[in-house]
Amino acid sequence: MPRINCGVENCAYNHGKYCCASVVRVDGKSADITETTYCNTFLDGMGYTNAQEYNMQNSTELDAILCRVDTCAYYKDEHCTLQEIEISSLTRAEDKTQTDCLSFERRNY
Ligand code: SF4
Ligand code: SF4
Repeated sequence: MPRINCGVENCAYNHGKYCCASVVRVDGKSADITETTYCNTFLDGMGYTNAQEYNMQNSTELDAILCRVDTCAYYKDEHCTLQEIEISSLTRAEDKTQTDCLSFERRNY
């Protein structure tokens, strides 16, 4: 089972700094730096009256990390090949594009 350590604490899927979504998609096609990648599955927990309750109801094992960042060294066939990655945001994320995949590494062609 892959695992995502996530610092985006206001995401509804964040449970104690781990991601509890069943599938996550990282995006940022043709990204060349970390800041141009983002978690497309981000869901602002402020939209829920009780984000913690939402987490508990939806808490599940992460089955797959899907990814569209074909410039990353760990990208293969629309998936991430790492078993553990790190997602975060510099400040409270208002939008999914403010999140970053910190595990991104530019592929050397
Ligand atoms: S931002 Fe993405 S990786 Fe982080 S908890 Fe939310 S869905 Fe999971
Ligand atoms: S490490 Fe690379 S392949 Fe894996 S999710 Fe992040 S950007 Fe995608």
